[in-house]
Amino acid sequence: MKQYIGAHLSVGKGYEDMVDRAIDMGANTFAFFLRNPRGGSARALDVDDLEKAREKLEKYEFGPLVAHAPYTMNPAGNKESVLVFAELAMSEDLDRLEYLPGSYYNFHPGSHVRQGIETGITLISEYLKRMLDRPLKSTVLLETMAGKGTEVGSRFEELATIIKKVDRDDSLGVCLDTCHIHEAGYNLQDIDSVLQEFDEVIGLQYLKAIHINDSKNPRGARKDRHELLGEGEIGWDSIIGVLTHPQLRHLPFILETPQTTEKGYGAEIAELRKRSARIL
Ligand code: FE
Ligand code: FE
Ligand code: ZN
Repeated sequence: MKQYIGAHLSVGKGYEDMVDRAIDMGANTFAFFLRNPRGGSARALDVDDLEKAREKLEKYEFGPLVAHAPYTMNPAGNKESVLVFAELAMSEDLDRLEYLPGSYYNFHPGSHVRQGIETGITLISEYLKRMLDRPLKSTVLLETMAGKGTEVGSRFEELATIIKKVDRDDSLGVCLDTCHIHEAGYNLQDIDSVLQEFDEVIGLQYLKAIHINDSKNPRGARKDRHELLGEGEIGWDSIIGVLTHPQLRHLPFILETPQTTEKGYGAEIAELRKRSARIL
């Protein structure tokens, strides 16, 4: 069966160039930042480049892309400047993503910075209601988090509460990060139980994308340190278990491993395809 696998790419020379590089590395989906990940403004709008990218994505039958919000975006922050940036960044990013219809926009729900988990959840939910109050050709995804510091979203229950409060099933989903849920304490060796819990608490219909990473830390460490596939505490067996699971294998899988080159990502993608072909 066809599997959508890719990695996080830098926009570099633009969108069409990014699609070309993805094809070169054997990917048929990818993730990218719409702006400098540490903050800053969006790239200048190049409609022609976006149109060429869109045509190529169609021609090469890519799965949905999974754009990533800036790391500094925190709608649960306690500083005015932080909240203003969150408001601006997602609005602009979603406007830009309209040129790539059917894409996902993944974001870290936020850190409540000692305002308490409930305040955090309320701030994030109100924010999403504002962000999603417009017609959209993309779907916003809440990422499952490792639980570092005061991060919101390391328990499925927290994401479920946000989804319920926002009440926009058509434009809100979840991106599951294997490194993060492992570090949050979920046991990937027993993927069936994890997915059953996900289904009971959130609902599997909300699961739209997977970040497929190994982890440097033991289960429950809550530190969020990604590792190359097979070289960390999750290991190949669990990784392939996720990739080939009947309830997951149709989703886009994005690598965010600490590769230093795109060639490295290409090798990991090839390895994933080889190992899953033995099973599928
Ligand atoms: Fe992320
Ligand atoms: Fe991730
Ligand atoms: Zn991470």
